[in-house]
Amino acid sequence: MDKIREDFPALNQLIHGLPLVYLDNAATTQKPLAVIEAIDGYYRNDNSNVHRGVHTLSQRATDAYEGARATIAEYIGAKSTSEVIFTRGTTDSINLVAASFGGTYLKAGDEVLVSEMEHHSNIVPWQLICNRVGATVRTIPVTDAGELDYPAFKASLSTKTKLVALTHVSNALGTINPVKDIITEAHAMGIPVLLDGAQAVPHGRVDVAELDVDFYCFSSHKLFGPTGFGVLYGKREFLEVMPPYQGGGDMIDVVDFAGTTFNDLPYKFEAGTPHIAGAIGMAAAIKYVNSIGFGFIQNQEAGLLHYATQQLTAIDGLRIIGEAKDKASVISFLIGSAHPYDVGTILDKFGIAVRTGHHCTQPLMKRFGIPGTVRASFTFYNTRAEIDRLEIAIRKAAAMLL
Ligand code: PLP
Repeated sequence: MDKIREDFPALNQLIHGLPLVYLDNAATTQKPLAVIEAIDGYYRNDNSNVHRGVHTLSQRATDAYEGARATIAEYIGAKSTSEVIFTRGTTDSINLVAASFGGTYLKAGDEVLVSEMEHHSNIVPWQLICNRVGATVRTIPVTDAGELDYPAFKASLSTKTKLVALTHVSNALGTINPVKDIITEAHAMGIPVLLDGAQAVPHGRVDVAELDVDFYCFSSHKLFGPTGFGVLYGKREFLEVMPPYQGGGDMIDVVDFAGTTFNDLPYKFEAGTPHIAGAIGMAAAIKYVNSIGFGFIQNQEAGLLHYATQQLTAIDGLRIIGEAKDKASVISFLIGSAHPYDVGTILDKFGIAVRTGHHCTQPLMKRFGIPGTVRASFTFYNTRAEIDRLEIAIRKAAAMLL
């Protein structure tokens, strides 16, 4: 563990005089040296624009950029790199599908099915397009335990449903949705499925071919890579018939005032100079994760989740929001009537970083009748000793606030 923690320089610092306890991994993860050095190396040695250059630096940059696409495609089990579109992140990926797929195929009276536990990124893009075309965003309720109401999901599918857009893992509750069953159910009625995988890819192996998912969206920065970069995986059969999302350089074949033709996949959806260092950094993050291995990561996270749940539930007045049977290493909680913001501020004084508020899931907070939660999210570099510090600090915060 010491060796792993040394890979993450940001973990090694004092906050208000105390060693940092970083438990805000669901918001963004810290970056290992392998990622920092890959980005540094690119800017120091290979910085150049990609694709159209004949000179050596441009070819090096292009090789690294397209090599990153191959690494990412392999990581998610995509059949081809042409199904891996580079975006600015999960939000951008969902907006791409909403604008391009939704803008083309959604008509008045149609429905897009989302759940009550969606991040705003998987709600608002659908509202925007549905409002424009006269379609409806329909919601699947969430149970008191924070699980998807599966019978309600099944009952919501109809001939009006044109897409199911669901989170794979909830950022606010940690719930892991039964996505394989959901996809099978939707496909049986000919309905495509988009999964928001922002919180899933850091915790386990995702195989898009095995899932048979139609669109899969995720961000690099939650997977130990740089911010502002992410991926849309899409099945070729959909991507081929979808119109471009944005126009500009790189996404074209021939431009003429009489009419423009578009580039092949995936470039048709990648207008403008891309985030080259982002792709290189994300590929380095994936190689790092592979070197640690999901066997270790999942074992470590399950142990931390179990221990933290046990320690925190022993605190008087502490209530955990989200008690799904299948859960990622996220604990959302409230202590008595204390406002999450006040709790988070006190925890920071003890060197502990957690997230407070609605976690970009306002409809979910409304569902539970709460203003927000305090969220501690763990990853493989966290330790039981850190959870002990969290528990002590929460007890102190409760003594001060209640
Ligand atoms: N979806 C989920 C489940 C998330 O947790 C997040 C980020 O918190 C997003 C989408 C948005 O990701 P990004 O801001 O990287 O686009």
